Amino acid sequence: MKILVPVKRVVDYNVKVRVKPDQSGVDLANVKMSMNPFCEIAVEEAIRMKEKGLAEEIVVISIGPTQAQETIRTALAMGADRGILIQTDERVEPLAVAKLLAKVVEEESPELVMLGKQAIDDDSNATGQMLAALLGWPQATFASAVEKEDGSLKVTREIDGGLQTLSVSLPAVVTSDLRLNEPRYASLPNIMKAKRKPIDTKSPDDYGVDISPRLEVIKVSEPPKRKGGVKVETVAELVDKLKNEAGVI
Ligand code: AMP
Repeated sequence: MKILVPVKRVVDYNVKVRVKPDQSGVDLANVKMSMNPFCEIAVEEAIRMKEKGLAEEIVVISIGPTQAQETIRTALAMGADRGILIQTDERVEPLAVAKLLAKVVEEESPELVMLGKQAIDDDSNATGQMLAALLGWPQATFASAVEKEDGSLKVTREIDGGLQTLSVSLPAVVTSDLRLNEPRYASLPNIMKAKRKPIDTKSPDDYGVDISPRLEVIKVSEPPKRKGGVKVETVAELVDKLKNEAGVI
């Protein structure tokens, strides 16, 4: 089985993001960027499948600026086999990403596309679902366990009411949730080895996909500052404050 894993370069999850003064977006100047954490989990799961002998090749793909090569290299150092960079400096929305991925799937014919459930920059949680729809493939989103069966996958999903188990026939699209696994750190020898693994560079035009945005960002703003709490003496005082100060009951 060949597995395709799309990985996105995003602001590192430890960074406290700052909004640009003109409220047009988040300030990315001199900010640490890393692989989206849910994509790391997807890469880890693909590697575990390969280690169990269930997959032969793992191809990682990123759509983004030249620096997204570093994100691909991180996945190669973890254990993926080769990379594809679709290079663009434009902001690429989930639908355009899904269309590009659909083209790559046509070329590469993987049996499984393993994505993160969402990218932590835009929190769209849409690309996997859109890709499955474009391909007409079954999808299992928010996976917390994946087991290979003959010609299908048994996927446990985290849903509001608890856990749901699905059987999806292959080829399929799966998106990873937080509890699927704990991604490994790349060892130094593997980081060195990854430098020799191939990364193919393409452009969105090579696939004939129009990536121009369909969404307009009106404004990006910081969440309101949290005010300090107060301690109340009695339940009656609490109810009074909730009613008359907070206006929530
Ligand atoms: P989203 O739908 O934007 O929340 O992203 C969900 C998943 O789609 C991510 O975890 C990635 O696996 C994939 N993805 C989204 N954008 C990109 C991108 N620019 N390059 C590669 N993969 C992406």
